[in-house]
Amino acid sequence: MSRYTLPNGLELNGKLYNLIELDEIRGKHQNMMVNPNPKTPIDHIEPLLTDLVKDLTNSDSESALDQVSKKDLILYKLPIQDIQFIMIKVREVSYGKDYIMQLQCTNCETKNNAKLDLSKLEVFPRKDKLSKDEMKLPKEKIEFTYGHMSLSHLLKMAVEEGESEFTKSMLTSLTAFMLTSLGDKSPVQPSDLDELRGSDLDYIRDNMPSLSEIDMEVEHTCTSCNTDFKQELPALAADFLLRTRT
Ligand SMILES: [Zn+2]
Repeated sequence: MSRYTLPNGLELNGKLYNLIELDEIRGKHQNMMVNPNPKTPIDHIEPLLTDLVKDLTNSDSESALDQVSKKDLILYKLPIQDIQFIMIKVREVSYGKDYIMQLQCTNCETKNNAKLDLSKLEVFPRKDKLSKDEMKLPKEKIEFTYGHMSLSHLLKMAVEEGESEFTKSMLTSLTAFMLTSLGDKSPVQPSDLDELRGSDLDYIRDNMPSLSEIDMEVEHTCTSCNTDFKQELPALAADFLLRTRT
């Protein structure tokens, strides 16, 4: 069992729960990742992490799981930035800190192997763009509070195009995801935003805080043509956890 400090964590009744205890990947987890008919490419994450996350505690060793279910924690309560962090740490606990990633050069298309040390990935700190007084729509003067993007949001966005409510109201859905409250509305539904002014909605979108997150960008110099290029670490993909690449 391994313990890590989440980049953000969960706040419950004024206490921060950010110490996470993780198990390593076992045979049953490998089975969960081989889903022949996935509805979305990230179907595997919730059942996997519900089993692999053993506890989430605060600095007084009190468990958040006394107050929220593990499924709710993974799906709704933790920001997606923390889910990405957990996926990377699960891989580290299971297969070690070295991750070999195949990167295709953007210039000559040569496939390069890059070795990444997962234990040394940088965590960027949270950045807030607005003060509390500025959390008000410029024209309508309605107060709002920001929430976070969760795994449940990502799942809603990932269901096949045309089938989901999300795709029918794409822009307001994305903006509603960012908010925990708008005036007296909480939670905020996409339809709550239908009559709001576009410039007020842009204000919400443009000033979303960036939560603490792990640096997912891998920089590499092509071994064939010397071009420097970047690629994202595929932390949410099933094969990130499934294969031991050497
Ligand atoms: Zn190249």
